[in-house]
Amino acid sequence: MNKSFQALCARLQAAGVPDARFDAAQLYRFVTGRDPRLDDGPDEEEARRLEELAVRRAAREPLQYLLGEWDFLDFTLKVGPGVLCPRADSEVVCETAAELLQGKQAPVVLDLCAGTGCLGLGVARACPGAQVTCVEKSEAAWPYLVENTAGTGVRTVQADVFCWYRALAPESVDLIISNPPYLTGEEMESLMPETAHEPALALDGGTDGLDFYRLFTEHYAVVLRPGGWLVLEIGCAQADEVLALGSRYGWQYGRCRKDYGGNDRVIVLQKP
Ligand code: GLN
Repeated sequence: MNKSFQALCARLQAAGVPDARFDAAQLYRFVTGRDPRLDDGPDEEEARRLEELAVRRAAREPLQYLLGEWDFLDFTLKVGPGVLCPRADSEVVCETAAELLQGKQAPVVLDLCAGTGCLGLGVARACPGAQVTCVEKSEAAWPYLVENTAGTGVRTVQADVFCWYRALAPESVDLIISNPPYLTGEEMESLMPETAHEPALALDGGTDGLDFYRLFTEHYAVVLRPGGWLVLEIGCAQADEVLALGSRYGWQYGRCRKDYGGNDRVIVLQKP
């Protein structure tokens, strides 16, 4: 019986951590390299490190930040304070883009507001010929993006997407993928404790949460080739509003796809 592990579970539970037992097991394995259910207990040094992490997790720092990496689709990303954690909800966004690119030779792809680079890297893995560029403005997120893309052939650009479209050649891109900040002003006031540790820059979509969808639908059509795609992650209540923006700015095909939790998650728009 591993008393340290039991105590860790109880402590995270008391702190209100969702899935406390799962998190405790992850942290235990991370520090000791052993399975807590089969282990007698940590040595002194392991106990000290486990204590540090328990304090941080009980303060509701995301588990992803404590582990320093997280799986997304079939690969692993470096993650930590300053960058949005890759989420399973976003996997379907990547899969949607990869399906749209099937059969295209060397398509040019942009991942805007890339964060860890999860979406752009996922597309690059699924479409080996694709020329993918990940764009990120945040100084804090940048080092994670650089490390995650190293050696993959995916390019990185540090830029603000609100002006970067002016630097691009018209009709030069086949597909734009993005998980932009999309929380509303009201949602920013009542974040989950874990999300409150993530960078506001990656979450805050302006008063109505739609600032980046307005930007993309209004200003990024020009950089796409005719027939090019915009594939956007959305908040689960934003489908109608984002589709309406698509119609207003002349996009076609507008559809919404759900994530594996059954929530509206992806909007696909096509340039005529
Ligand atoms: N999915 C995140 C959340 O629910 C938000 C990410 C984003 O704004 N792009 O907190």
